Amino acid sequence: MNFINDATFPRKEPKAAVKKDRCDGCAICVDVCPQACLQVIVNPKRKNNRIIKVIGELCSGCGACQGVCPKEAIFIPGLSTENLRGYVDKALVMIAEAEESRA
Ligand code: SF4
Ligand code: SF4
Repeated sequence: MNFINDATFPRKEPKAAVKKDRCDGCAICVDVCPQACLQVIVNPKRKNNRIIKVIGELCSGCGACQGVCPKEAIFIPGLSTENLRGYVDKALVMIAEAEESRA
């Protein structure tokens, strides 16, 4: 499920972007990406460090990576983490209501 979509967050460029000075390549975001479009690579500017790479063609802009990154290093341009968490909360309520109506 995409917690953000064109109805909740209209955007021109729905691809994740990386703040290269913040990412340490911890790979937490890799585990939550539903499109498998994140890879940890050697940072080309700091050879002893790792960094995340987004395969843009595969990214759906779902925002999951932004929601879990402890460094606020990966983000959907124009989307604040606060707003993203609000969309996630709304989606979880909708899911709970749908499950209740089926019970
Ligand atoms: S973007 Fe964030 S979660 Fe992903 S590897 Fe970099 S620091 Fe870790
Ligand atoms: S926005 Fe979604 S699809 Fe794109 S890199 Fe992040 S988790 Fe993967």
